[in-house]
Amino acid sequence: MSPAEILARLNEQDVKFLRLQFTDILGTTKNVEVPHWQFEKALQGDVTFDGSAVEGFTRVEESDMLLRPDLSTFAIYPPFSPRTDSGGQEARGRVARLICDVTLPDGTAFEGDPRQVLIRQVERARALGFEMFVGTEPEFFLFERDEHGRGTTLTHDKAGYFDLAPIDKGERIRREIVEKLMQMGFEIEAAHHEVAPGQHEIDFRYAPALETADRIATFKFVVKRVALEHGLLASFLPKPIAGVSGSGMHCHLSLFRDGVNAFADPEGEYGLSAVALHFIAGLLEHAEGMTAITNPLVNSYKRLVPGFEAPVNVAWSTSNRSALVRVPAKRGTSTRAELRMPDPSCNPYLALAVMLAAGLDGVEQRLEPPPAIARNIFKMTVRDKRHHRVRELPTDLREAVGDLEKDAVIASALGEHVMEHFVRAKRAEWRAYSDTIHAWELDRYLDLV
Ligand code: GLU
Ligand code: MG
Ligand code: MG
Repeated sequence: MSPAEILARLNEQDVKFLRLQFTDILGTTKNVEVPHWQFEKALQGDVTFDGSAVEGFTRVEESDMLLRPDLSTFAIYPPFSPRTDSGGQEARGRVARLICDVTLPDGTAFEGDPRQVLIRQVERARALGFEMFVGTEPEFFLFERDEHGRGTTLTHDKAGYFDLAPIDKGERIRREIVEKLMQMGFEIEAAHHEVAPGQHEIDFRYAPALETADRIATFKFVVKRVALEHGLLASFLPKPIAGVSGSGMHCHLSLFRDGVNAFADPEGEYGLSAVALHFIAGLLEHAEGMTAITNPLVNSYKRLVPGFEAPVNVAWSTSNRSALVRVPAKRGTSTRAELRMPDPSCNPYLALAVMLAAGLDGVEQRLEPPPAIARNIFKMTVRDKRHHRVRELPTDLREAVGDLEKDAVIASALGEHVMEHFVRAKRAEWRAYSDTIHAWELDRYLDLV
């Protein structure tokens, strides 16, 4: 759409506010909202904001930054009920949004903008003749709020995997989320109750990597917003409750060349092309290096433990869900590799960028993956694992940040600016966590010593 066409749509639909959306390095979605008389200026990419106020962006001395909208991301938000946080959008007319690239005052792309990091990898893939498609399966919990409106970890139902209403009270909310997403142009493949009580999953159809990253950001906002309207809290925390399943965000990755799936080859081993095997080898090669990005919270590592269908070991498989990379049975256009460690707390732009960087490195270097593992890896002995070259993912955020720093391919994909700010922020996060005396320590030790 051209700026003039968007302007016409905005008028026609009585849109009163336009949100210019971008994401900071840690993955928080930000927006600058402009009223209707500023629409033209916004569409021209003339809206400035103070970059120094955004975590990890710029220093105070060079703080003016511009928001250049990607016009293909134009969407009008579906009406949300007026009783909650944004003070009644319906009463004030509708709200639209555009996802923006962040630029310096002279119009050059800002190195620290996570969307730029992904665009750089998309371009690198394009130069090799490929386009990466990604489908995701974000999982989340719906929790009760207490009498003050604060979130709790009490789930609103006691249902389990694929249970049907009326047990699944979340069904109505989930359906409403799906409807709102579809009104915004999402193609939803499936939505269902997940394994744990109060846990849900909504799968969206595969799309080019940048589009999927944009959608993940929007998705989280819509899920949280609809839950709030129902008095619940939607949380994407990877492991909110010990002893039950955590929330992952599996990513189904495939490369296309000239519109044809480049992972499929009926003649190839496992029905996979050499490109697919190299890509998978790249994902395995850089698994530890990218985990800090795909699993960025202290809490993320409490999900990556055996027994809950979350991966722990660096291995691939054509069937079983204990592996880090699983190749689902479908071939042809649907041929893809499912990367299972990412969780929904990640910055979607950085996460997809490192996945692409890892896979492309495998393709460029023609890396060969070890043999696929058919058995349940959780049941393998240490010796078996060594024999099959099965390594382990980092066990905590500190280790993951160390592994990231050691991986030159992933570090260079992120670029110096993002690396520096990300590593500094994550070190500080780890320090804050380890400086805290946790309830577990007191329970375990206070009386004992
Ligand atoms: N909840 C699991 C995870 O943490 C995934 C379950 C599934 O296979 O959908 O990754
Ligand atoms: Mg799932
Ligand atoms: Mg899955």
